[in-house]
Amino acid sequence: MREYKGIPASPGVVVAPAFVFREDELSVPSYGIDHDDLDAEWARFLRAVEKAKREVEELRDRTFRDAGQVQAAIFEAHLLMLSDPDFFDGLEARLRSTHRNIERVIVELERELVDKLALIEDPLLQARSADVHDVARRILSHLMFHERFNLEDLETSFILLAHDLLPSDMISLKRSKVVAIATEAGGRTSHVAILARAFEIPAVLGLGEVLDGIKAGDALVVDGRAGRLIVDPDKATLSSAAASQRLAHDEAVELSKLIDLPSQTSDGKRILLKANIEVPEEGEAAMAHGADGIGLFRSEFLFFQPGHVPGEEEQYLSYSRVVESMKGKPVTIRTLDIGGDKVLPELGAADEKNPLLGWRAIRFCLAKEDVFLGQLRAILRAAAHGDVRIMFPMIASPSELDRALVLVEMAGEECHKRGQAVPDRIKTGIMVEVPAAAMASDILARKSDFFSIGTNDLIQYTMAVDRGNQRVAYLYEPFHPAVLRLIKTTIDNGKAAGIPVGMCGEMAGDPASVFLLIGLGLEEFSMSSASLLAVKRLIRSVGADEARKAAEVVMGMSSSAEAAAYLADIVQPYCDATTEKRKK
Ligand code: PEP
Ligand code: MG
Repeated sequence: MREYKGIPASPGVVVAPAFVFREDELSVPSYGIDHDDLDAEWARFLRAVEKAKREVEELRDRTFRDAGQVQAAIFEAHLLMLSDPDFFDGLEARLRSTHRNIERVIVELERELVDKLALIEDPLLQARSADVHDVARRILSHLMFHERFNLEDLETSFILLAHDLLPSDMISLKRSKVVAIATEAGGRTSHVAILARAFEIPAVLGLGEVLDGIKAGDALVVDGRAGRLIVDPDKATLSSAAASQRLAHDEAVELSKLIDLPSQTSDGKRILLKANIEVPEEGEAAMAHGADGIGLFRSEFLFFQPGHVPGEEEQYLSYSRVVESMKGKPVTIRTLDIGGDKVLPELGAADEKNPLLGWRAIRFCLAKEDVFLGQLRAILRAAAHGDVRIMFPMIASPSELDRALVLVEMAGEECHKRGQAVPDRIKTGIMVEVPAAAMASDILARKSDFFSIGTNDLIQYTMAVDRGNQRVAYLYEPFHPAVLRLIKTTIDNGKAAGIPVGMCGEMAGDPASVFLLIGLGLEEFSMSSASLLAVKRLIRSVGADEARKAAEVVMGMSSSAEAAAYLADIVQPYCDATTEKRKK
């Protein structure tokens, strides 16, 4: 038995075999194909090529629009390769002669082609190896991750092990048999972690180098609360895993009794509890957990469905579905927040050296007005069906907000001209997630209908710590005095301007933080649906006045560790199933 310690990212204990996902060539599977199955194998390849072609066509068109013909020519060349009869003949002949799976055939042919090109003393031809590689990878990705290993097809449940996953991977994982995740990279507030919690998939991230010692099929235990990965568990470990599963089940039954009870402190202060969602289906889970609305719809995840970019109409249907499922409760839709770790080349996002400080979120949308206007029209039209608010991510400067508001007006006028119903006025607010916005929140409050504090990024940018990098995770400190001061400044400035201030970062789903934040005057929290009831239990157990006094103490402390220990002492007794009973 071996045990590895990582970052606890999504709670739950799971025992299952390993499925190891490696992005490098070695992970391309190699197996034989029976003579009778060769046609089916070839058809599988052709389907993957069709998908790859559609992707490249979209990329070409967009690049043509945004950058011009010269840049778009790269993708023309890729399309030619994807229809090249010599390439196809070579592959099919090799498939039929070697009887190896098509992924292996592609990798071998690619290697030969690249070797041949390297021998030619023409830099232009040599540069073509990058194109060959790119095209081969694109087809492989459809064959392996989206198709063959499209985890949807697998019959048994397993734990997915990878160096790292992309937020877009998580969307396909959601529909699969993945029962837990363990990765070498990643941090507690990386988008992979957030999605794992949202989809209730136990996860341990940031394990460091473990992949080499684990092979497919090895027995694993993932303990997402403790942040442990165990390989080849012994009997005692298996029985303690079973005990943890029973406890978690009992806890869920206890918490479910709180669904219809009001979210208010023991001294009567009402606290709004909303849900963060990434895909429209989660709206139903939010309602089932008794959410007061959707505080953050991360709309960019609609754009991560494999090989597919939704247009205005499709977005409109998705937003409307959420609005309708919330039955009159408010829905805050955040406009596209791509960039950073959410890479979406299909929209023409650039490959940048420093993406977290680069062309992300509102910066990207203000430069891509056609994409932005399409989304704004879709949101405004969905707003005709219920209470919808628009929230802009990553606002750093008031001028960005001014321009975004102009574009909302323009989108509304376009809808009017088309005869589409949109509300006369829609609430527009911002995420406060960049220190500059927190410091200038008095100015921004004059232009906003609401604030929502995005602590995931606010901590990242305040502490200068990549939220997905396990090596510096120890510095990612929610209770650092600098972070707490920025939060307090934002709350105070929002209140002074008379606008509601909420929080939708991961701190909003952590009971100790919620206690402190109520003490700092916050009255609205948005979190993954799975955290709602545990937070409600805490809120119902404490007094707002008690929280205010504790917040005063914490604001006078000089370290994050001191604050965490102090808050844990107060809050811990209320974080188990016995508290509600004790109060009765
Ligand atoms: C945040 O930054 O706190 C936030 C809620 O947004 P995201 O996690 O999607 O960056
Ligand atoms: Mg953010």
